[in-house]
Amino acid sequence: MSSSNPTTVPASIVIAVDGTSGSGKSSTSRGVADRLGMRFLDTGAMYRAMTWWMLSNDIDVHDADAVAAAAGKPVITSGTDPLGPTIALDGSDVSVEIRSDRVNAAVSPVATVPEVRARLIALQQQEIREALTAGSGIVVEGRDIGTAVWPQADLKLYVTADPAARAARRAAEEGGTDAEAVRASLENRDRIDSTKGGAAVPDGATHLDTTPYTLEEVIDLVVDLAQKAGE
Ligand code: C5P
Repeated sequence: MSSSNPTTVPASIVIAVDGTSGSGKSSTSRGVADRLGMRFLDTGAMYRAMTWWMLSNDIDVHDADAVAAAAGKPVITSGTDPLGPTIALDGSDVSVEIRSDRVNAAVSPVATVPEVRARLIALQQQEIREALTAGSGIVVEGRDIGTAVWPQADLKLYVTADPAARAARRAAEEGGTDAEAVRASLENRDRIDSTKGGAAVPDGATHLDTTPYTLEEVIDLVVDLAQKAGE
């Protein structure tokens, strides 16, 4: 793979990275943002924080009306340094809690509630505008970035990997948990997300199947694409 020269990428481009969990989109997005000196926004962490708030406040996550009524309440703050992204809920760090099994099981139903999506999409758009105003580019990772959050992104990617590779990666990220159980949980979330959660392949997106590549190879590929998008 070629090594790329980041100085040719304009500082203030927006890179939208959509795709499935465990496809490598998170590590890729962080690596690209770090390489290009950009900010990084993990929108999945925001849906997870919203879900943790619902669980902590005894709201039935399957009661869409109750979730909708509470969707405006949590204060969600994202730190956008790609080397140490943070997520806080009402001022407290929740980066560990949002990766729990309880949140894994509850996040997709919460994310299908329109009031939740509208609130979080508005917050995400605000983060992007702040980055651009500050003269910084931003890599935004999620399910609907190139379709709903920032369809005008300079570069749109749709990242996938085959299910066994995804489950193995996620299990390793989660500390060596059972890959089969992780695969079942991922497939269940994908099913809900793709039928009701707003996940779709954005128009004009480049499809990247990461299965045969190492992380560094995928980062190189995306940095090259970012250079072309900025030309
Ligand atoms: O990417 P991650 O697996 O952390 O996302 C958790 C969940 O958040 C997804 O399964 C999906 O339900 C929801 N999500 C979403 N829209 C996004 C990002 C995540 O609906 N932009």
